[in-house]
Amino acid sequence: MSETAERLDDVKRAMNASAEEAGRPASDITLVAVSKTHDAETIRPVLDAGQRIFGENRVQEAQGKWPALREDYPDTELHLIGPLQSNKAADAVALFDVIETVDREKIARELAKEIEKQGKTPRLLVQVNTGKEEQKAGIMPEDAVAFVARCRDEYGLTIDGLMCIPPVDDNPGPHFALLDKLANEAGLSTLSMGMSADFETAIRFGATHIRVGSAIFGERDYG
Ligand SMILES: *Cc1c(COP(=O)(O)O)cnc(C)c1O
Repeated sequence: MSETAERLDDVKRAMNASAEEAGRPASDITLVAVSKTHDAETIRPVLDAGQRIFGENRVQEAQGKWPALREDYPDTELHLIGPLQSNKAADAVALFDVIETVDREKIARELAKEIEKQGKTPRLLVQVNTGKEEQKAGIMPEDAVAFVARCRDEYGLTIDGLMCIPPVDDNPGPHFALLDKLANEAGLSTLSMGMSADFETAIRFGATHIRVGSAIFGERDYG
């Protein structure tokens, strides 16, 4: 077994153990393998090991490697987990099955336009800036519930759930709890939260999707 396939196995084992501890069925939690910065040859063994759901944070980078990989693994599901610029909305709708980072009116409007034009229906999550960090994307927590309603009422978009990235130095638990509370208020069931360092905590707090990169692929080299 390749090194990445072994690490994938370890992550799945840890996921299942956390689910069991939390009294949740393991099938309620989806692993999104975050392959950003890694080339097709690094991703292939993970596909060969059966993983089919992947996250990328840049539209252009994903366009460079996934169309070819998808020819060999057509049932792959791709999640956009990085900030979306409005001039990339068309490309994002064309390529991604799930867009996790809807975070402002302008993006909602562009996505609605492209979804209509392309006749595609990517699943959508709203990113919430739970730590109110200036440099981070995401709608402010106090605006999240109203924004979800506006996406529906103003733009005809169906929002499936919420996503967050807690501040690196914070205890993530309260951020996960806040995301869960906001999703409940908005009547949403999908919660994308938890990365390599904190996915076990996220599962305790109700994550339905965890986004795990380095624990599977190793450290990233941003060159
Ligand atoms: C890179 C990234 C991840 C994965 O982070 P790891 O710590 O490598 O698991 C998860 N979510 C988002 C939004 C990311 O950009």
